[in-house]
Amino acid sequence: MSSQDPSSSEKSVSVVTGGAGFLGSHLTDRLLAEGRKVIAVDNLITGSKENIAHLADNPDFEFIEHDVSTFIDIPGRVDFVYHLASPASPIDYLELPIQTLKVGALGTHNALGLAKAKGAGFLIASTSEVYGDPLIHPQTEDYWGNVNPIGPRGVYDEAKRFAEAITMAYRRTHGVDTKIVRIFNTYGPRMRLRDGRVVPAFIGQALEGTPITVFGDGSQTRSFCFVRDLIDGIYRLSMSDSSGPVNIGNPAEMTILQFAEKITEIIDTSSPIEFRDLPEDDPKVRQPDISLAKELLGWEPKVSFDEGIRETIEYFRPRVDKPA
Ligand code: NAD
Ligand code: UDP
Repeated sequence: MSSQDPSSSEKSVSVVTGGAGFLGSHLTDRLLAEGRKVIAVDNLITGSKENIAHLADNPDFEFIEHDVSTFIDIPGRVDFVYHLASPASPIDYLELPIQTLKVGALGTHNALGLAKAKGAGFLIASTSEVYGDPLIHPQTEDYWGNVNPIGPRGVYDEAKRFAEAITMAYRRTHGVDTKIVRIFNTYGPRMRLRDGRVVPAFIGQALEGTPITVFGDGSQTRSFCFVRDLIDGIYRLSMSDSSGPVNIGNPAEMTILQFAEKITEIIDTSSPIEFRDLPEDDPKVRQPDISLAKELLGWEPKVSFDEGIRETIEYFRPRVDKPA
């Protein structure tokens, strides 16, 4: 995208795998704002060039279209590798099970190999899904989880658990300065309207006037973090002496039915709420314990649900099909 080579500069150079995705593009913006050069590596399997289009003329930014499950070749200087590449929405990883396992395993191996070869720092975007359908609540980092390895979500959960394991192996065996962040449900502008995750799903349905599809009886809980807060947590972890794992998420927990009701209230839609089958192994509860992030990183979320959700609605408003 850029004619100059960011890796030939005096500025610190970060590689962001998954840089054309929702979180990767926001992280790229933050790193550029912090004065770094950024090389985004993405095969666009679930991401979009639209997310990085505003950076096309930025000389500190370069985009490489590449599948990181194969060898990653970056000439020149690299100071930090942020490994975010992976399908992340349940419907994406259910449609892309082998690619999800490969990018969690081979992709993480390649990203770690790049960090080791360059003497760079490394951060893996892990997930609250490593806790599976959790038996302790809220989830603390010392909880080992309750994951069904052979269920449909196992392709994502086990890939991320492997990714954490190989990250620790590179730390212990090769001395790579690694960080593990466990990301809890995050939302905001640049999510795909139809990626199936509950935030774009309900906002899109409410704006289009179609039924709001609550899975199960809607009593399962989630805790939603606005993207700016999440990116700040990731950035702080990457700059800290801590290796993690550290939970980053917003502890404000609600049931999915409450979330549906809040969306219908804010958007003032005529959409009815309709109940659908609960997907297999859908976690019943999820809420991060963020004591560690507070203590180690001085981090806690600042954006209220109302503020974050309104900004997200305004992003989706021009992107939805108009009501019939
Ligand atoms: P996303 O789908 O928007 O972004 C993922 C990006 O990775 C996409 O641009 C995609 O094209 C790219 N990608 C996938 N496989 C690739 C490969 N083999 N080679 C190169 N690029 C590849 O999803 P997101 O929400 O931005 O998630 C980013 C990361 O954060 C993922 O690792 C995800 O597991 C993790 N995460 C996200 C959340 C969340 O709530 N958003 C929660 C937990 C963990
Ligand atoms: N969900 C829902 N309706 C939808 C999409 C999701 O009720 O149209 C539910 C889903 O079953 C889960 C929660 O919302 O309990 C969050 O789903 P999401 O796909 O956003 O991510 P997850 O937290 O399950 O990874």
